[in-house]
Amino acid sequence: MAMDPVCYGEVDEENATHRVNYQGQEFYFCTASCRKKFEEKPEKYAKLATKFPIDPHMSC
Ligand SMILES: [Zn+2]
Repeated sequence: MAMDPVCYGEVDEENATHRVNYQGQEFYFCTASCRKKFEEKPEKYAKLATKFPIDPHMSC
């Protein structure tokens, strides 16, 4: 599951229809309105997304 950086909801990457590639990173959104908010201020939401703890199994 990916995290929607706008509403913090979980998004299934495989079925996600709303996605944005920002600075080489893929972001997924539950709705078009979440995607729109991200597109208006991508730097703000991308920063928030990185604040979340990373799954220890995902890091090296
Ligand atoms: Zn959302």
